[in-house]
Amino acid sequence: MKVTKFGGSSLASAAQLCKVLDIIKADYERRFVIVSAPGKRTADDTKVTDALIKYYQNYRAGNDVSADQEWIIDRYRAIIEELHLGSDILEKIATAIKVLATLPIENNRFLYDTFLAAGEDNNAKLIAAFFSQNDVPAQYIHPREAGITVSSEPSNARILPSSYDKLENLREYNDVLVIPGFFGVTVDNEICTFSRGGSDITGSIVAAGVKADLYENFTDVNGIFAAHPGVIDNPHSIPELTYKEMRELAYAGFSVLHDEALIPAYRGKVPLVIKNTNNPDHPGTKIVIENTGKDMPVIGIAGDDHFVSINISKYLMNREVGFGRKVLQILEDLNIRFEHMPTGIDDMSIVLRDRELTPIKEQEIITQLTRKLEVDHVDIQHDLSIIMIVGENMKSQVGVMSTATKALSDNHINLTMISQGSSEVSIMFVVNSEDEKKAVRALYNAFFK
Ligand code: ASP
Repeated sequence: MKVTKFGGSSLASAAQLCKVLDIIKADYERRFVIVSAPGKRTADDTKVTDALIKYYQNYRAGNDVSADQEWIIDRYRAIIEELHLGSDILEKIATAIKVLATLPIENNRFLYDTFLAAGEDNNAKLIAAFFSQNDVPAQYIHPREAGITVSSEPSNARILPSSYDKLENLREYNDVLVIPGFFGVTVDNEICTFSRGGSDITGSIVAAGVKADLYENFTDVNGIFAAHPGVIDNPHSIPELTYKEMRELAYAGFSVLHDEALIPAYRGKVPLVIKNTNNPDHPGTKIVIENTGKDMPVIGIAGDDHFVSINISKYLMNREVGFGRKVLQILEDLNIRFEHMPTGIDDMSIVLRDRELTPIKEQEIITQLTRKLEVDHVDIQHDLSIIMIVGENMKSQVGVMSTATKALSDNHINLTMISQGSSEVSIMFVVNSEDEKKAVRALYNAFFK
């Protein structure tokens, strides 16, 4: 059986919902359907979730909210009328949207999440009604009934492990179950959402919980490209990659799926496929648990900017017991996360995302390194990018690094740092951000052309 998740653009209009119905009808194994809120119909449209944020803000500020309510109800109305669904579903949705503006404001940590969750919740009701009216026996099921119990962290919920046993019971249903994505319920029965884009996480959790054979994630692209289409003209899409490879690419800027969405399906050993609602015959990109022996050493190239490097030198650093720990302690005390730490004999660099620093924190780091650790030199280098070449097969192939560095040197790109983890799933190059695109192009041409 399959868990099938549709993103907002796949559910933005009646025409899109007809494609979704065809997809569900084409395969009776599609038994669990996870839905987002209606997304944008055109580039300058508003997502229902964003409209709900505005509605929430006006309600909190004590402003008149009738225009916000009408706009949101109208989005559902347009879909309902075009699909000729009964007026009772529209009434139900209209009431649910209006009721939000009667909820207590004071001492209500979950008010914002309750507003936002209404986008997916009402869409799931609508879609279940649409399926049932079109020969697909379907039921809407609230995350509370489904068993999606989450931590009490507003807008950043985490699934509680106990949920998985309860979710397994969903296998007993005969109807197609339509489950709203993006939120769960706390042990105190409060609505709590994942972070933005979190319907992908719900799909992954349900796939692991019901022990699905496949988690299908339908979006509006034909899968994952081997490089960013904004940098490479018409990059090819990757037919298959492993979870580890996907994690590396996602880390460096590939954002087809929510970051946290990979973990539940990976732990549950459920393969995932990314497919296009507008082109469902395209095989898409499959993300599998184990490498199935493709012979390409590199499957994708990613680049991401806004990195900073703290470069430290101290003569005889290698002989000083505890030096590394003391450096990291300074960062920890300032609540700073770091990403990479390449070292030399007497040097150490700490690479981090620039959002972790402020001018005050930078000054503090320099002061503490100089005074407490008596380093000979410290500087903070800004405007760096990381480039990752990713592929599990590179560990058994000779010459990957030489192909990469030759391509970069032929294009006169200066390398600031190179790092490869012991798992050899990727090689990371640090370059000046002004060279990032040129570097990705050089590597793409070297490995794929
Ligand atoms: N509707 C939510 C958002 O826009 C969640 C999602 O679509 O996955 O962030």
